[in-house]
Amino acid sequence: SLERRDFTGADPRAVLKEVFGYDDFRGDQGDIVSHVVGGGDAVVLMPTGGGKSITYQVPALVRPGTGLVVSPLIALMHDQVDALIANGVRAAYLNSTQSPGERAGVEQAYLDGELDLLYVAPERLSVPQTTQLLQRGTLSVIAIDEAHCVSQWGHDFRPDYLSLGDLDERFPGVPRMALTATATRATHQELTERLRLPQARHFVASFDRPNIQYRIEPKVDPRRQLVTFIRSMPEGSAGIVYALSRKSVEQTADYLAAQGLDALPYHAGLPAEMRAKHQSRFLREDGVVMVATIAFGMGIDKPDVRFVAHIDLPKSVEGYYQETGRAGRDGEASIAWMAYGLGDVVQQRRLIDQSPGDRTFKMRMGQHLDAMLALCETVACRRQNLLGYFGQESEPCGNCDTCLTPPDTWDGLVPAQKLLSTIVRLQRERNQSFGAGHLVDILRGASTERIRQQRHDELATYGLGSDLSDQDWRSVVRQLLARGILVARGEYGVLAVGEAGAAVLRGEAGVPLRRDVLGRGSNSGGSRV
Ligand code: ADP
Ligand code: ZN
Repeated sequence: SLERRDFTGADPRAVLKEVFGYDDFRGDQGDIVSHVVGGGDAVVLMPTGGGKSITYQVPALVRPGTGLVVSPLIALMHDQVDALIANGVRAAYLNSTQSPGERAGVEQAYLDGELDLLYVAPERLSVPQTTQLLQRGTLSVIAIDEAHCVSQWGHDFRPDYLSLGDLDERFPGVPRMALTATATRATHQELTERLRLPQARHFVASFDRPNIQYRIEPKVDPRRQLVTFIRSMPEGSAGIVYALSRKSVEQTADYLAAQGLDALPYHAGLPAEMRAKHQSRFLREDGVVMVATIAFGMGIDKPDVRFVAHIDLPKSVEGYYQETGRAGRDGEASIAWMAYGLGDVVQQRRLIDQSPGDRTFKMRMGQHLDAMLALCETVACRRQNLLGYFGQESEPCGNCDTCLTPPDTWDGLVPAQKLLSTIVRLQRERNQSFGAGHLVDILRGASTERIRQQRHDELATYGLGSDLSDQDWRSVVRQLLARGILVARGEYGVLAVGEAGAAVLRGEAGVPLRRDVLGRGSNSGGSRV
């Protein structure tokens, strides 16, 4: 548009309407915008699809100067900038895909005060020249998107984010915002510290997506299970099927297509034209099932995705939440379906073991996996478990598989007591504590070098748990951790009795566990313990 209105100092709601075409702010958006327009810092925790972009785009237009947006995903940057330009916003980006000439053009536009929004990748900001350039112009607000990437313990750590800690010194007086859709209590605290936002106001939206029904089932015949699930959806439902590997994506897409479903593959190894074609068919046509690696979905704005299916176990609860969150953005009933099996667990443990990270890193990844498995194995409401993971308390939802069809359980009280008393004895008698692996070895009566060396075969509980397999025991440990009966401490994840453990030791609380967990057959369980 030739006649571009200057929105500096305008009413935020008028900008929302005129530029973005929305009648009203949603949820916390209005409060966040007025806080930032007033010059305040903000930490914004809002689920995917919650509408985070508006909360920095509107202040960027209303405050004098250019809004700087730090975003790690170059592909997303293109899309966001294109969408903004289509709305008449003067937006541009600086990243490694540009030619020097293009970059120079954007830099000049910034210096001339001709940009409302400038997107940069975090690594750009660790280059001193970028800071010098930005200091010569005027910034209205700095928005750090995907702020959880600064968390070294998170599932998506990016070292470049660490350099964003001193933006307050580089750009004093410019309000800063950290935004993320994945924040456990620990990540929330860590990003607030690392991005130095002690004065920020915190806006924490509910992470509940009530229109999504969660269903998780053990793998028996995964492809057939998947087809049965997809066929149970209304005709013409669009959906995403997530698989871990490219090969699995292609094979699954072929299989679904052979079953007469309109399924297309999508992963980073496919030619760009094919990816673009599949994406546009998914966006424009009804009933396309996209079979994809997790590379697909970020920044894809399709509100009527009716289901998200996982045929491989996600690496973390954060990842699961983010991926399933792509279903039902329009608020209509949608389903998050998953099948998981022992093979997934073995594969993921191997990936963790073979990863180049140090011991602490591997331990953290192992904890992410365990939390994911605890969600799979819970006898309680899936949503309660999921929201609890993000620090949000809730009642059983009535709209997940465990609420709708309570699973078959067995009473794990006796094995739980055996484990807890082993921990207590080691602590009291020898002042020792151990991680799950060694404790399970003791209970199963294993004859490892460590057990012989430490004379743990002399403990009263040695061999008392040989009726359960190693896998069963791991599952028991995960459930006890998830319920606070056990707690894991320190760098090595040594186990201690948690707050809820005392009642279990006294036999005053039941420990219901699922029968259908992993290798566990439907007839095994209670009677054996
Ligand atoms: P997030 O970044 O939190 O995942 P987005 O900023 O991409 O979410 O917004 C998600 C969707 O909600 C987009 O389609 C966006 O256009 C829409 N949206 C955002 N704010 C509003 C609003 N106030 N009214 C209506 N739709 C909105
Ligand atoms: Zn529920």
